[in-house]
Amino acid sequence: MCEWRVIHYADCNHNFAQSINRCDAARARPNQQTCLPASGRERDLPRSVDIQDQNTPGKCPPCLGISPPSSEHSQ
Ligand SMILES: [Zn+2]
Ligand SMILES: [Zn+2]
Repeated sequence: MCEWRVIHYADCNHNFAQSINRCDAARARPNQQTCLPASGRERDLPRSVDIQDQNTPGKCPPCLGISPPSSEHSQ
């Protein structure tokens, strides 16, 4: 089963699902389609934090304001 690769950011102490780790079954598919859990939703795939992704320096993308704003702000 494929898993979300979750990054743990040290500065804000958040876990952020960065990308999907494809398992061997997914890699073997012609379009590398990821597996889907019983719910059929990609975001419900299991999450795993790799040792090397723990305490990553910095803040997660939402804390950095990288995710698109929900409304416009004037300054
Ligand atoms: Zn898989
Ligand atoms: Zn954060």
